Amino acid sequence: MFDYLIVGAGFAGSVLAERLASQLEKKVLIVDRRNHIAGNAYDHYDDNGILVHRYGPHIFHTNARDVFEYLSQFTEWRRYEHRVLASVDGQLVPIPINLDTINKLYGLKLTSFQVEEFFASVAEPRDQILTSEDVVVSKVGRELYEKFFRNYTRKQWDMDPSELDRSVTARVPTRINRDDRYFTDTYQAMPLHGFTRMFERMLTNPNIRIMLNTDYREIMNVIPFKEMIYTGPVDEFFDYRYGKLPYRSLQFKHETHDKPVFQDAPVVNYPNEHLYTRITEFKYLTGQEHNKTSIVYEYPRAEGDPYYPVPRPENAELYKKYKALADATPDVHFVGRLATYKYYNMDQVVAQALTIFKQLSSKESLEVVINR
Ligand code: FAD
Ligand code: UDP
Repeated sequence: MFDYLIVGAGFAGSVLAERLASQLEKKVLIVDRRNHIAGNAYDHYDDNGILVHRYGPHIFHTNARDVFEYLSQFTEWRRYEHRVLASVDGQLVPIPINLDTINKLYGLKLTSFQVEEFFASVAEPRDQILTSEDVVVSKVGRELYEKFFRNYTRKQWDMDPSELDRSVTARVPTRINRDDRYFTDTYQAMPLHGFTRMFERMLTNPNIRIMLNTDYREIMNVIPFKEMIYTGPVDEFFDYRYGKLPYRSLQFKHETHDKPVFQDAPVVNYPNEHLYTRITEFKYLTGQEHNKTSIVYEYPRAEGDPYYPVPRPENAELYKKYKALADATPDVHFVGRLATYKYYNMDQVVAQALTIFKQLSSKESLEVVINR
């Protein structure tokens, strides 16, 4: 008899498996319908021996010391600060938009003070910042919004920024200085030997059994367990009772080129050209040295594996109905990006899983006291 059946071996499932097995000595069965662990963070060596991320670029960053320290038990790190260029008006310029972006784009030599004045002069004041359009035009005005955000967002989400919550484009700040890092978090690093190796170390505990290529529905009536932790899409769990929750998908096109460097930055965004949104060159992320280089293109799709919840009010309403069902299913705990329908980064999923672990362990201590 397993204490827990954990559905999904991504961050949510693996953190909980590790904590339950190592701290509470629980017997855990973790299943994934894919043929590998690590969920969307999975990385592997491709046919040319280059470390690539199968499901698009994954860069670890967090302000949460406890999350960083927790993961540090399972990996050493490589210092890495992510940088992105955007292809706009025939030039490659830094995104997030900063002082250098404006100077390069318009051939100017503004100071930080002057660029702040420039933003103020072009910004469109808004009483309320509700949508992803409001966030950008209220800071940098319509022209920059159209050059950098409108078309990228339409491509990525098949929706106008005015139809999406503010939280989506608010992920990308605007700066008046020359800082060209994509993230400013305190901790920014890549697992030295890759994400998959880190997951392998999380899941080595003898109390953990792993079953791959297995949908939980194939085994849940055959293998006995006490409680379930579910990290797949929440609407699927309830057989789409209230209809499908929209998730956005991507198609990844991986390529290897017979030269050491393909592009000028780890990621180049293409807001206005091409059907793909961005190209990632993995060797920048991993620091690997190799005479060839591997890249990935991301083509947004409606159909396919669910990768992104779509943050907008009607979806939040529909999710609430599924959340109510989830809350009324006490022996199943819903954790992670798909199961809680949140546009979470990896560190937020780890934090959420650690919180659920604390709840499960305090519930357990309470039961021990009551049963005494
Ligand atoms: P997942 O990793 O999706 O794991 C869920 C697992 O459950 C999957 O492996 C799935 O196969 C399995 N599963 C589902 N249903 C079943 C079933 N019925 N039976 C068995 N198994 C099932 N975050 C960052 O912090 N930095 C980044 O740079 C970053 N870049 C990203 C780029 C892209 C293109 C994407 C899509 C995401 C990115 N993220 C990034 C987010 C990150 O991938 C997620 O936060 C994290 O992987 C979510 O972990 P999870 O465990 O919730 O879900
Ligand atoms: N975005 C954009 N232009 C860019 C970069 C981002 O319009 O050059 C918008 C777009 O809507 C995107 C969102 O900001 O989906 C969040 O960007 P992020 O890079 O965080 O996306 P992720 O890495 O999660 O795909």
